[in-house]
Amino acid sequence: MAQAYHIQSRWFSSLRYRLLTLALVPLLLLAVTVVVFAAQWTTNFTYEQLFTKVNTDLRVAHDSFQRIQSEQEETILTLASSKEIVSYWQNPTELVKWVDVQRELNEYNYLILLSQDGEQRLGQGGWLPHTMHASPLTQSALSNGVTPGGGTGIEIVPVEVWLSNGLLEPGKVVFPLIDTPRAAPSDRSAEDRAMLIRSVHAVIDENGDRIALLEGGRLLNRDFDFVDRIRDLVYGPGSLAPGSLGTVTVFLDDVRITTNVPSSDATRALGTRVSEEVRNTVLQLGEQWIDRAFVVNDWYISAYEPIIDVNDERVGMLYAGYLEKPFRQELFNAIAVLSALVLAGCLFAICAAMLGARSIFRPIERLTSVVRATAAGKSTRVGAVESVDEIGELAAQFDGMLDTLEVQRRKIEQGAQLLEDKVQLRTTELRQQNQRLTDSLTLLKQTRQQLETAERLAALGELTAGVAHEINNPTAVILGNMDILISEIGEDREDVATEIDLIIQQVYRIRSITHRLVQYSRSENDQLSPSAQTVSLPDLVSNTVRLIQHDFLDDSLVITEQHDCTQDALVDPDEMQQVLVNLVRNAVEAINQTSVKGRIVIATKDLDDKEVCIEVTDNGAGIEPTHIARLFDPFFTSGKELGTGLGLSVSFGIVRRHGGRIDVTSTLGAGSTFTVVLPVAASAPYVASNSPSVKAAPIFDTEDVLSEFKR
Ligand code: ADP
Repeated sequence: MAQAYHIQSRWFSSLRYRLLTLALVPLLLLAVTVVVFAAQWTTNFTYEQLFTKVNTDLRVAHDSFQRIQSEQEETILTLASSKEIVSYWQNPTELVKWVDVQRELNEYNYLILLSQDGEQRLGQGGWLPHTMHASPLTQSALSNGVTPGGGTGIEIVPVEVWLSNGLLEPGKVVFPLIDTPRAAPSDRSAEDRAMLIRSVHAVIDENGDRIALLEGGRLLNRDFDFVDRIRDLVYGPGSLAPGSLGTVTVFLDDVRITTNVPSSDATRALGTRVSEEVRNTVLQLGEQWIDRAFVVNDWYISAYEPIIDVNDERVGMLYAGYLEKPFRQELFNAIAVLSALVLAGCLFAICAAMLGARSIFRPIERLTSVVRATAAGKSTRVGAVESVDEIGELAAQFDGMLDTLEVQRRKIEQGAQLLEDKVQLRTTELRQQNQRLTDSLTLLKQTRQQLETAERLAALGELTAGVAHEINNPTAVILGNMDILISEIGEDREDVATEIDLIIQQVYRIRSITHRLVQYSRSENDQLSPSAQTVSLPDLVSNTVRLIQHDFLDDSLVITEQHDCTQDALVDPDEMQQVLVNLVRNAVEAINQTSVKGRIVIATKDLDDKEVCIEVTDNGAGIEPTHIARLFDPFFTSGKELGTGLGLSVSFGIVRRHGGRIDVTSTLGAGSTFTVVLPVAASAPYVASNSPSVKAAPIFDTEDVLSEFKR
């Protein structure tokens, strides 16, 4: 449906097809009108010709009918005047024989001599009365005195009387009536009347006296020879179209009494009846019928005229006609040929018009397709067209216009590209500036944080250094006095040995704390230890693990090393070892809070060409998210029995002094990862400080630390 609509809309939207439609529709209408008119005219003309012919045929049949009557008239008159009658007059037997011979010779159905008054009839037994009804012709012969009188005419006679007088053969006259389509309704079942061509003339002797009447006649019922003769005369060879059939019929009233019209079983259609409309026209109105008529079982071109009897009454009809079908077929063939010719002409005209239209419209269609392609963004041209008329000029102008447009478009595109490049450049510059600004802001933020941290740590360092100094003095005094006390109590020393050991142990613990505090405070000094050197992190890690494995490792803990680091870092190995020990110790403590089998992975990696790192990952208890921000604060501890909360803060200070940082990630219940990030040796900010001329005290030596505090 959609397809059909598409084709239809394409047809109506195309200029070519619309103009073709405008040109061809009137042509087609004209062709149809011509065919219809020609068909009508041909039909009318043909039927007029057919009717004229059948009318002529009827005339010929009529003339034949009349001539047969005239011939009979002449023959009877001649016989009535012949000498034989007079010579045999005295010998009735011979006379009867002579009459019979004449009847046979002239093929009459009957020929009889009547007495001069018409009352008696001459037979084998002499003059005998008869019961035949008198004809008006007999009256005429009698009334004319001695002149021949009488005449010839058609008469309908009752059959029984004639049969009883032995004048007609019974089987010839009566026959059944056959139901016929279109005939007027009738309740008669058989035709028992006879139609005669009856002739009567007076016989005059040599004295001029009428001595008898000679009467003869021809029965038309079943007289096939009669109708066949007329048919052969009217419809001779070549007078009809092939396949047609010429027929002649004599009707008594409306019944076919002799005919050559075939019935459906190919016998003569005797006893069939004429159609009602013909009967009404011919018998009732007395008019001729020249038209088509349904004869027995088919349509015939027919002509009927009434048969008038001696009483001047319409007693039957004479018919001549021929089968319509072959003529109709010929007519249809002629119309079909005409239609085919007109159709072929139309087709030829359509083809010629379409071919002609193609050459006219092709340039226009090319123009249209170029317009469509241009609208769709494609670059095409109409190109050279055959026509040199206005359309050709239009196509050339259109191509020129498209060329101009193309040039303009290119210019616009170039301008747009230029503009876009500039915008791109500006955007990149802006982005770079924005990035620089962001970097600056980040740096500023980091610097501020570092400053804040530095300030905070400096303050804390100062405080812790003071506190350590103040605590160290009393511990030294306590230890000194403990020595005096031990020597004073002498042998009683054993009784309080436990208390003395506890005091000394706690004093050393205090000194350890103060030592770490000093370390922490010293970490605020940004100077790198003079013993810093280029170190391979995998070596550093392996050495440290080897050092601590006896302290930490048992069956419930595994330490694994993974070394991918290829670059060296500039670090103080001892300090960095202390950091690692701190991290491993914290990991072990976190693992101990769980019941899992402990796993610690220490990995070294190159982060990039500027930074390397050591990752310490455990599967311990993990860290509360709220604790992570405070991990590196001094004294922050989760409350372990021996925890000081200084391990991470001191480690952070050490790493920071090396120009690095410590990152933490942790999942509560799953474990933590501490990442010590260090600059690679080549880009370390403290390379210069690695000079041997720089002097700084080692931070692990407790005595040195104490002496520093004392100073
Ligand atoms: P201390 O170990 O003496 O408490 P630290 O500064 O070394 O002090 O550690 C501070 C706190 O950080 C610890 O008390 C502990 O709660 C937490 N911590 C450090 N490392 C880990 C770790 N690997 N897993 C879980 N918690 C840790």
